[in-house]
Amino acid sequence: MKNKTDISMTRRHFLGLSGGVIAATALASVGFKYHESKNEREIDPNSMKLKENETDVLVIGGGMAGLFAAVKAHDAGSKVTLVSKGRLGSSGATPFAKGIFSYDSTSESMTVDEFVTQVSKSAINTNNPTYTKQMAENSKASVDELRKWGFFDSPLYNKSFSKPMKERNIEVKES
Ligand SMILES: Cc1cc2nc3c(=O)[nH]c(=O)nc-3n(C[C@H](O)[C@H](O)[C@H](O)COP(=O)(O)OP(=O)(O)OC[C@H]3O[C@@H](n4cnc5c(N)ncnc54)[C@H](O)[C@@H]3O)c2cc1C
Repeated sequence: MKNKTDISMTRRHFLGLSGGVIAATALASVGFKYHESKNEREIDPNSMKLKENETDVLVIGGGMAGLFAAVKAHDAGSKVTLVSKGRLGSSGATPFAKGIFSYDSTSESMTVDEFVTQVSKSAINTNNPTYTKQMAENSKASVDELRKWGFFDSPLYNKSFSKPMKERNIEVKES
């Protein structure tokens, strides 16, 4: 035997259920169209033409590493081409790098070796001390170059990355 509360719950349940059925019927009458996606390539590789480019150094990637590789290879006397699947300075992990570190021997209280010891201690020796030393010795010069190109003037890096490339007439191919 059901009490009053049980009956009212049943009614509510019935109304909810019938509302759902009405809504489903209404949606079915609207009719959904789904676009069948065919897994076909849009570019026919057989229709592509090959173009030969000649260069001494081909740099792949327009992030921080690619930028310095291209600039340094050019400055060492090579003809350089940089290709990137994204825009120079605006793709990959580089746009996220906001905190740039440099070791400045003119203002640091520690020597390079003391600095390496300190970093190794705080990293519980998980760091590579050779790399840490190279970073300490070379970071200031790289940061100074970035500053000269306007890297710290804007949170967007395409302009500052393009500056040294344009100045050197380094070919950049972005896709
Ligand atoms: C969230 C976040 C925060 C960070 N913060 C800091 C920070 O504060 N300070 C700091 O020093 N570092 C920071 N880093 C690390 C720093 O961003 C990276 O170490 C650095 O940007 C790596 O540079 P990269 O040139 O090696 O790689 P990327 O910047 O990833 O560049 C790779 C480039 O290669 C291109 N590419 C990829 N595949 C191909 C392909 N097949 N063909 C052609 N081009 C291709 C990409 O489009 C891109 O241009 C951070 C990283 C992340 C993810």
